[in-house]
Amino acid sequence: MIFLDSIRRFSPRRPIPALKPTIYYVPVVSAAPLCPECAGPLSRAREPANRVKCASNLREIGQAILMYAQDHGGRFPAGFEHLITEEDLSSNVFLCPSGIGERAAGATTQEVVQSFLADPIHCSYVYAGANLTRATTTPAHVLAYEPLGNHVGNPQGIHVLHGDGTVRWYAAPQAKRLIGELTAGQNPPRATVVKP
Ligand SMILES: [Zn+2]
Repeated sequence: MIFLDSIRRFSPRRPIPALKPTIYYVPVVSAAPLCPECAGPLSRAREPANRVKCASNLREIGQAILMYAQDHGGRFPAGFEHLITEEDLSSNVFLCPSGIGERAAGATTQEVVQSFLADPIHCSYVYAGANLTRATTTPAHVLAYEPLGNHVGNPQGIHVLHGDGTVRWYAAPQAKRLIGELTAGQNPPRATVVKP
């Protein structure tokens, strides 16, 4: 111990080198690509998990729609926003993880709904159940679907929420026909894989 102390005492003090200023370049990485077509290898790697999550979102939306109908004499909600206000559904559920959407946020439920309705970026899915009731809806009816473009991997396609609460994947050619029929007011669409 004495020996160590003497070394410390007699070792010449070396000047402390001045710290050189170091510039760190922090790459700016956005959470989502600007367009799904620009998706890099990382996004492609996440795609299988994203599809599972997207289908799970639509199943959750389907359950909330059926619960809403139970509380409203069999009528389905006029819009998705009623599921946020009356069924306590999180605004996060309306975002396909492969899409470019951003979660609607706010301090109160009312603010969340205002944000949700103010910009379509807060919803990845299209609601198709506004004029349907529990009594007239068959499994072939479509309650909600997503536009082509969220899932651009191979194979390209969309998730569709059916009248019985099941979610099915439609590959691009059939998905295009299905969306075409739905936008023309044909529900249940003939392009569905489920027979009424
Ligand atoms: Zn999706």
